[in-house]
Amino acid sequence: MSIWNPWHGCKKISPGCVNCYVYRRDESIGKNASEVSKTGYFDLPVKKTRTGEYKLKKEDGVVYSCMTSDFFLKEADIWREKCWDMIRERKDLEFHIITKRIDRLEDCIPEDWGEGWDNVTICSTCENQDRADYRIPILLKAPIKHRQIIMEPMLEEIKIDKYLETGLIEQVTCGGESGDNARVCDFNWIKEVRRECVRTNTRFYFKQTGAFFKKDGQIYKIDRKDQLKQADKSHYSYIPGTNEAEKIVYNPPTKENLLNRLKQSKFRQNFYLNEEDIQYIKDKGLDKIRGHAKDFVKDRLSAQNPDNDGKQTPMRGHPVFKAQHATATCCRSCLEKWHNIPSGKILNEKDQEYITETIMDWIKTHGRD
Ligand code: SF4
Ligand SMILES: [Zn+2]
Repeated sequence: MSIWNPWHGCKKISPGCVNCYVYRRDESIGKNASEVSKTGYFDLPVKKTRTGEYKLKKEDGVVYSCMTSDFFLKEADIWREKCWDMIRERKDLEFHIITKRIDRLEDCIPEDWGEGWDNVTICSTCENQDRADYRIPILLKAPIKHRQIIMEPMLEEIKIDKYLETGLIEQVTCGGESGDNARVCDFNWIKEVRRECVRTNTRFYFKQTGAFFKKDGQIYKIDRKDQLKQADKSHYSYIPGTNEAEKIVYNPPTKENLLNRLKQSKFRQNFYLNEEDIQYIKDKGLDKIRGHAKDFVKDRLSAQNPDNDGKQTPMRGHPVFKAQHATATCCRSCLEKWHNIPSGKILNEKDQEYITETIMDWIKTHGRD
């Protein structure tokens, strides 16, 4: 990757800007980050070597543009046209523009923009639900060829399922905030977004933990040097078609812990076996029922991204279905939330066996007269 900063300095406009790293860095060297000025690298994309070749090469990867400002900042209106000229000239490079000002895009695009350019990805940042609900609809409507969402710093739980369902978002990136005054990022928020990404088959990138990371109810302080590393090591990024989640280390709950939690759920407690179910189990015998359970688990749950996830298990019609709802083994989302089995993972034999056993345990204790 390369970084192209045509101008430097920015104005704070939203909650995500509170601890802006551009401000923090500038302050540390006595500079005022709210003053916006062109940099010496303004024409980097078209800079050539003495032999007449472009300095920035395709092999260098994505060109992250305007990382110490905002590309659609009003103060930069006078310079932007020239940037578009350079981006147009370098069709061989992939430019990523990360912005909190997606609402200015349509005022800032060049005349020949059309439905967007192939070599430009627009990444809209949204740090909380309010900003997500304001910016993402604009991102979806705007003429853009490649769209991404960046939740960094993620400040609360953010629901974006309805936006992902459009199929127009190519990637979602999540991460916490860095710095001494960083706000806490909760792993549960990240997992929730990831589950939606898996369900809609959208690429998901868990970039970094931030400085204060909450996991299983406890807040950890993470050193700057470990923030990216720890996120990477968790294997919680999701790339459709790869089985990265296979590397996630997890432990299913103990039987006792699971039962205690299930007891507290009114919804789960509602399921029971009626006489008809009990007769059915008697007629078939437990081995047959186990066989059914095994098949349901394999066919409906074990794919990386099962069809219709969340709706694949009927509420009645087979004692195993009831047992699945009662034990929260009904869909991949419940399997992650109640049993720690990561979404986006192809269930291996051991996972399938654990789920089948959980179902059968319930049937044995709730299905016998
Ligand atoms: S928009 Fe980005 S660069 Fe500008 S102040 Fe906010 S966080 Fe900083
Ligand atoms: Zn479920």
